[in-house]
Amino acid sequence: MIGILGGTFDPIHFGHLRPALEVKEHLGLDEVRFIPCGTPPHRRRPVAAVAHRAAMVERAVEGQPGFRMDPRELHREGPSYTVDTLQDLRAEVGQDVPLCLMLGMDAFAGLSSWHRWQEIGGLAHIVVSHRPGSPASHDLGDWMEDRRTHDPEHLRRAPAGRLLFMPVTQLDISATAIRSMVARGRSPQFLLPRRVAEYIEHAGLYRPPGAE
Ligand code: ATP
Repeated sequence: MIGILGGTFDPIHFGHLRPALEVKEHLGLDEVRFIPCGTPPHRRRPVAAVAHRAAMVERAVEGQPGFRMDPRELHREGPSYTVDTLQDLRAEVGQDVPLCLMLGMDAFAGLSSWHRWQEIGGLAHIVVSHRPGSPASHDLGDWMEDRRTHDPEHLRRAPAGRLLFMPVTQLDISATAIRSMVARGRSPQFLLPRRVAEYIEHAGLYRPPGAE
C-alpha cells in the first residue's frame, strides 16, 4: 500500500513530515511518495523554483525508511492535476496495489473544485488528516458517506475508493509562515529538518531581493 503526499513543499516542513509518518504507521503503508507540484492549478506560483523544492524534499526524506521523493510532476507541462498524477501512478504500480492520497483538511475542503475530482475515488483512497485552523468536518453528501471508513483493513482490501479521516499530532506550521520568517532574517530552525534549513540558507531562498 502506497501513500501519496502532494504539495508545493515551498519549503517542506515538520507539518508535512510528522503527519505523513503517523499515517504511514497507522495504515501500515509500505512507502510514502512526496510529490512536489510543478505548476499548482489552485494557487499562485510557488516562490522557490521546482528544482529547489524537490531538492529540499530529497534532503527531508533521506534516511527515513519508506519515504521517497517522487519527481513525476517536475517536468510536466501545464498545471499539475492530481487526477493525472494518480493515473500515472496507477499505470506504474498496476491495478491491485492500494494507493492512498493523503490530504490535510484544508486541501480536502477544496476537493470538489479540483479538475475531474470525481475520478479520484476510482484511482485512490483518500486519507484526510486534521490540520490546525481548518474546519473539522466537510459535507460532500453521499459521495463521502458511501466511502467513509475508520478501518485501515478496508483500505488494504481494495485498490481505491474509501475515505478515512485520521487525527494526527497538530503542528501549526505553514510554509507561508516559514517563508516570511526567513524574509525577515529569522531562523526557521526546529520547524523543519536541519538539512532543509541549511539548504534554504545556502541557496539564499525566500530572502527579499537585494538581501545578503
Ligand atoms: P503554504 O503555506 O505555502 O500554503 P503549506 O504549508 O500549506 O504551504 P503545502 O505544500 O501547500 O504546504 O501542503 C501540502 C499538503 O500538506 C496539503 O495537503 C496540506 O493540507 C498538508 N499540510 C501542510 N501543512 C500541514 C500541517 N501543518 N499539518 C497538517 N497537514 C499539513
